[in-house]
Amino acid sequence: MWPSLAGGGVVVFLFGLFFTLNGIGFAIPFMIVGPIMIIAALILPEVPPVKPENPNMKYCRFCLKEIPLQAETCPECGLLPD
Ligand SMILES: [Zn+2]
Repeated sequence: MWPSLAGGGVVVFLFGLFFTLNGIGFAIPFMIVGPIMIIAALILPEVPPVKPENPNMKYCRFCLKEIPLQAETCPECGLLPD
């Protein structure tokens, strides 16, 4: 289950439904893609989070480099990792 993909599918479907009900013709594909996104979110297996091998390290969420767990700013990119 991918909650963000399912939520995106609902938004895409409602977008298509709103535009179709208001007579705007190009929105039919959105009403098809939205349910496909919801079904894919229910079928696809969830990917486990990636953890560094060293327990004293973590990944910077901006540059994805391994940095020390206690680091307040990333030594690679200088941004706050948390
Ligand atoms: Zn970084």
